[in-house]
Amino acid sequence: MGDIKELNIECQLSTPSSDDWDVARLAWNLATDLRPVGVAFPETASDVSRIVEFAGKNGLRVTAQGTGHGAASIGSLDNTILLKTGRMTGISVDPAAGTARVEAGVLARELGESLKGSGFYYLPGTSPDVSVTGYTLGGGMSWLGRNYGFACNQVSAIEAVTADGQLVHADHESNPDLFWALRGSGGCHAIVTALHFSLVPVSEVYAGALLFPAQLGAPALYAYRDWAATSPDEFMSIFRFLRPPDLPQVPEQLRNTPVITITGAFIGTPAEGERLLSPLLEIGTPIANTFQPMPPQGLTHINMDPENPVPVIGHHATVRELPDEAIDAFVAQVGPESGSPLLLAELRRLGGAFGRKPENAGALASLDADFIMYACGIPMNPELAQAVAARLDDVETALLPWAGTEGFMNFSERAVGMEKIYSSEVCSRLGEVKRRWDPDGVIVGKQELRLV
Ligand SMILES: Cc1cc2nc3c(=O)[nH]c(=O)nc-3n(C[C@H](O)[C@H](O)[C@H](O)COP(=O)(O)OP(=O)(O)OC[C@H]3O[C@@H](n4cnc5c(N)ncnc54)[C@H](O)[C@@H]3O)c2cc1C
Repeated sequence: MGDIKELNIECQLSTPSSDDWDVARLAWNLATDLRPVGVAFPETASDVSRIVEFAGKNGLRVTAQGTGHGAASIGSLDNTILLKTGRMTGISVDPAAGTARVEAGVLARELGESLKGSGFYYLPGTSPDVSVTGYTLGGGMSWLGRNYGFACNQVSAIEAVTADGQLVHADHESNPDLFWALRGSGGCHAIVTALHFSLVPVSEVYAGALLFPAQLGAPALYAYRDWAATSPDEFMSIFRFLRPPDLPQVPEQLRNTPVITITGAFIGTPAEGERLLSPLLEIGTPIANTFQPMPPQGLTHINMDPENPVPVIGHHATVRELPDEAIDAFVAQVGPESGSPLLLAELRRLGGAFGRKPENAGALASLDADFIMYACGIPMNPELAQAVAARLDDVETALLPWAGTEGFMNFSERAVGMEKIYSSEVCSRLGEVKRRWDPDGVIVGKQELRLV
């Protein structure tokens, strides 16, 4: 095994003896405690090549991280170099072609800013500070996704460093197997240095949040479910039970007050959006209604996701269908009377283009489920961490009779292994690609891909 200190690179490299070690190894998810052999901060694709080549020749492994939003699932980093891409920030947009190229460390909000006034947008999720690359390699479930599908399938080409340290180009014609695998499998086949993708012609959306008292309970969710069943593909929405923490950033009247939020985004005119939204206003008297026309840059703020690192323990499950019994089981675990220690529990509407397989799709083509459940809590102390983890288990168990057969890479915050995310057919194809491009297992991704 080589000594990380022999890695001769021009970019910053921190090791356990460096003064900045504890800062260097910190992930966005502060509940993780990553202990790699070193943390490298590449600035160029050739820095990445040198690091991966060194790892391969010295019996080490490499894992890439844009921000550490997804750090909870990666498992042990023994003998592994953590490669943080935050200094690879190049963005180029071609408005005439409706395409963009982003380097591995670009954040969602940075790409959003650079598209201002272009008439085009990418497929953003709810968080402004995920890396576009990590979000996209794990599928990319967007506010615009019921209309356009998963973000990974807007990717037209990928620049990546493979396990032997070579920089390669992958698209439908060159290295198509690697191109297929990288689109959805969470980056376990190569280290991506840049993504090229097609943009979509969206310059305004009607979007926002409705807040209701959490006491409305299960009937509010029945009504939302019925509404969601008839909403068009252009309308994406999320129902949540949320208990905003007692923090200065939260408006005083909402601190520690359980609420229901229904957040959503509609691609279409404000008048049509307002008309489509109106049945939801009959659920009860909203505490707040922030729906309004906005530029798509606003989309990563409507869900009120944290915009700075926080400690989080989360879990997810796909939900095939949501009959009243499933809603009752869910509300018993996370509703206002449940004594839940969770910060939030949500059901995100799937269907539409999320359920249709596009031609030439990557490893994630579609999800066959009506909803996806995600829930999380903030482990402020070890007792709370235990209570949160136990409740997440209980929510999963409660929904088991309606659970889908597959999971979703981006929401997988436990080290469950690839086989809990993808069908055996997709796993076996991912395994073939891994054997071809990384037979010695130099590259570590978000979930382990066991080769059988
Ligand atoms: C508050 C919050 C909101 C979220 N909302 C959404 C949402 O709306 N939709 C959605 O789809 N997801 C969402 N997610 C999940 C998020 O997209 C994933 O956690 C994703 O992995 C984040 O990417 P990252 O690079 O920022 O995180 P990281 O933890 O840095 O990366 C996650 C994984 O991506 C891979 N990876 C990252 N960069 C590279 C690279 N250059 N080459 C190869 N592999 C790489 C690695 O396997 C890494 O372990 C959310 C997460 C949080 C915490």
